[in-house]
Amino acid sequence: MLQQTQVKTMLPYFARWLAAFPDFPSLASAGEEVVLKQWEGLGYYSRARNLHKLAKTWVTLDPPPTDTEGWQALPGVGPYTAAAVVSMTFGTPAACVDGNVVRILARLTADSTPFRDSASAAKALRPLAEQLLSRSNPGDHNQAMMELGATVCHRQSPLCLTCPVRRFCRASRQGEPEAFPRLAAKKIEQRSVVRVWHEKAGRLLLHRAHEQAKRLANLHELPTPLHLGLDEESVTAGSTLMAVKKRGITRYAITESIYRMEALPTPEFTSSELVWVNLAQLESITLSGPHKRWIGELVGKGGPDPAR
Ligand code: SF4
Repeated sequence: MLQQTQVKTMLPYFARWLAAFPDFPSLASAGEEVVLKQWEGLGYYSRARNLHKLAKTWVTLDPPPTDTEGWQALPGVGPYTAAAVVSMTFGTPAACVDGNVVRILARLTADSTPFRDSASAAKALRPLAEQLLSRSNPGDHNQAMMELGATVCHRQSPLCLTCPVRRFCRASRQGEPEAFPRLAAKKIEQRSVVRVWHEKAGRLLLHRAHEQAKRLANLHELPTPLHLGLDEESVTAGSTLMAVKKRGITRYAITESIYRMEALPTPEFTSSELVWVNLAQLESITLSGPHKRWIGELVGKGGPDPAR
């Protein structure tokens, strides 16, 4: 859950998740719809699907793996998660290297290598992380590094004066810790999407992504003109703009304009990906996080967004 999500956002979801699935066997035996419903609001649903697949594999393994290789063979588990699980659960010596740890290591050594991104910096600094790892307490060591990065060695204004490793830190001695690590600036691409709000007899028309879709599989969102076989202009020219919303997906900053269409040129649909959902029963389906929020705001509004 913490991949892409902050701790304070994640905590209530984590509690809800553990109440529903206290162990891997209970998760493995749940249906995908139930799993996705528990994840609703957290976004990046591939994490939920992978965890579900992982649980299904895990229950067949006896004994479960205790090394990073074994864990990395499971769905959705990369080097960081594998190292965290095996070091904290089994005491296996494996270093966790994420953005926080990269920052600490680059500052300790004043490493001025220009890195393309955090992933390539993590790869380059992994040998150093492994070298520094406590062999007797790898789990505690990893947690201490995570905590140091999160609470002391901040990206901006690190708290060097109270830092427990200050005497080893070259960047702090040089007086410019914020200059490390040298990461290339992220390129954010702007995108615009038109969405259609079409309501009839208390039901809303939604698009459900195909179950094999790479992103958002089986999740519902407001349809785009393309989903309805329409071109964008015919929607934007003849309909009322209800709201303009923004969302971020990986490196894209997306602006979604929601247009209310009273009538559609083709009222009957053959696509199984278009579904009518009773507005009073929206809770029974799984919507993507942003669309759940936006639809919740717009239900009953029925007119142009007063904020615009
Ligand atoms: S001394 Fe400062 S820069 Fe160095 S690790 Fe500590 S907080 Fe980070």
